[in-house]
Amino acid sequence: MARYTESVCRLCRRENLKLFLKGERCYTDKCAIERRNYPPGQHGQKRPKFSEYSIQLREKQKVKRMYGLLENQFRRTFARASREKGITGEALLVLLERRLDNVSYRLGFASSRAEGRLLVRQGHILVNGKRVNIPSYVVRVGDEVSVKEASRQMARVLTAMEGAQRRGVPEWAELNRDAFSGRVKLMPARSDITMPINEKLIVELYSK
Ligand code: SF4
Repeated sequence: MARYTESVCRLCRRENLKLFLKGERCYTDKCAIERRNYPPGQHGQKRPKFSEYSIQLREKQKVKRMYGLLENQFRRTFARASREKGITGEALLVLLERRLDNVSYRLGFASSRAEGRLLVRQGHILVNGKRVNIPSYVVRVGDEVSVKEASRQMARVLTAMEGAQRRGVPEWAELNRDAFSGRVKLMPARSDITMPINEKLIVELYSK
């Protein structure tokens, strides 16, 4: 399967925004955005020229990178969002939030979405008591997402749960920290996503 193999900090520098792709490091002064807040590469410090297309493209790249999707996966999610009722841009963000890898991260079982994806793929995450190893699995209201009992003492899970206390749990979920389990109590809302995203630009880009 294709995957991005270069330094993920370059992605944040490219988007000029902390995308929180590296877990705990993102909260320290080792964060590359804190140290070199300009795009990577030979021409990184030149003043960029912005066209309408490039602004829309950057917005799409930002969200795609934040959730760790490849282009085809992102397009498929967009296509699904466009079939949902309501505003397509908002439906896109809500679908991304409901991905199992993201929910594992949001509940604090993983310190980044990439780690959430690994936990899911490796079979450490259960949905309603059953193993689900598909990171793109979309959770529903009422679903219980938990860490498999045999995986609860894994160092990376314990470290993530400790660090996640700083982030807190979103409004749409509730966490039982002792049981390594969380429940989706509401459908995520657009207002729950606090990162600076203009999803209308993504809709415009894909509508061309
Ligand atoms: Fe982005 Fe985290 Fe790297 Fe900072 S440390 S540049 S927030 S991935």
